[in-house]
Amino acid sequence: MINSNAHYEPVITPSMGARRMHVHLTEINDARKGWGYQHCHEAEEAVYMLEGEGEFTFDGKTYHVGPGQAVFFPSGIVHAETKFLSDKVKYLVIRTVEPGDEPCCCETDVAAPATATS
Ligand SMILES: [Zn+2]
Repeated sequence: MINSNAHYEPVITPSMGARRMHVHLTEINDARKGWGYQHCHEAEEAVYMLEGEGEFTFDGKTYHVGPGQAVFFPSGIVHAETKFLSDKVKYLVIRTVEPGDEPCCCETDVAAPATATS
C-alpha cells in the first residue's frame, strides 16, 4: 500500500539534461501510516533524511535514519520496507537511471528523449 499523502518535488530531472541520475524530494505528512512500496530495481538509490526519522529494513538489516543521515540501497536489493517514527518526514531520493529499469516511485525519472523539449 502506497501512502497517498506523499508529495514529490522533482529536483534533478531529464528536462534539465540529467540522463543517468535522478533526484527528488519526498514529503509525507502522515508518515506513521507507513510506506509499503516494496520494490527492486537496477538503479542504485540513496535516501538522505532532512526531517523526521525512519527505519529502513532490507537485506536482513534495519537502518535507523534521522536528519542528516543517509541510507543506501544497492542495485538489485528489494527495499522500502519502511517504518517512519515521525508524523512528518522529508527526505531526498537520489538514484541512478538505468536503461529499461522501472521508473522511480515519483515517476519523473523516465529516460530522457534524445532531444528534450521541456
Ligand atoms: Zn527504490
